[in-house]
Amino acid sequence: MHKYYDIDVDKRTDQYLVKTDTRDPRKIEMSFILNQYQPQLKGTKLLLYQTIFLNKKEADKWTKDEIRKDKIVLEKWWRQMSHSWKHFAGFVPFQRFIQGKKRTFYCGSYTLVNTHEIATISGLAAAARIGAEYPFADDKLGKKQFDTYCSLVHGRNLTGGLRPIKNTIVQLFLLAVVLCMIYRCLY
Ligand SMILES: Cc1cc2nc3c(=O)[nH]c(=O)nc-3n(C[C@H](O)[C@H](O)[C@H](O)COP(=O)(O)OP(=O)(O)OC[C@H]3O[C@@H](n4cnc5c(N)ncnc54)[C@H](O)[C@@H]3O)c2cc1C
Repeated sequence: MHKYYDIDVDKRTDQYLVKTDTRDPRKIEMSFILNQYQPQLKGTKLLLYQTIFLNKKEADKWTKDEIRKDKIVLEKWWRQMSHSWKHFAGFVPFQRFIQGKKRTFYCGSYTLVNTHEIATISGLAAAARIGAEYPFADDKLGKKQFDTYCSLVHGRNLTGGLRPIKNTIVQLFLLAVVLCMIYRCLY
């Protein structure tokens, strides 16, 4: 950790550390000092770190092998989606037309951006679509995020807040995307 990150656990309370690969600045490695934010580790002398290595196909760039094997408490493999522009141009604006069809509502971070917030908000939105009340209406920022999500993903407002973008505008956008794709294929 000291080799790659600027840490000083005695003086600072940094939690989240990011290292850019100097050979390829598009690549990053992330590490966490778990003792700084996991309450069950507060006061523990032994420091527990977590590092996330991204993209197994580029494992040759990882610094993972520099970690002493006898110091590893747990190794866990994840499979995680990564959205490209196609998701935002081709799926996000149009999913409102499938929400609620065949008695089905879609939720999860796939519906917008891959974050904890969207994963949670999307579940609250699906619940609201089948009649539940949004439980954090008093929280100004929470409500704003919920309204924004519902306007984009469900094409409607579920709390009386933000006005959603009209379906016709979305359909026109879809038409423009399709025309651009046809143009790109032909020329
Ligand atoms: C290493 C890592 C670090 C991250 N850090 C952050 C962060 O700091 N901040 C942040 O906001 N987000 C972070 N994320 C992203 C965040 O974890 C995800 O956006 C969030 O967990 C997505 O929640 P979800 O409920 O949509 O999907 P998931 O959490 O993926 O849940 C989907 C569930 O469905 C189950 N499932 C899949 N297929 C089926 C099936 N056919 N039948 C039944 N069950 C099925 C899966 O097993 C899983 O339990 C991180 C992700 C990873 C991997």
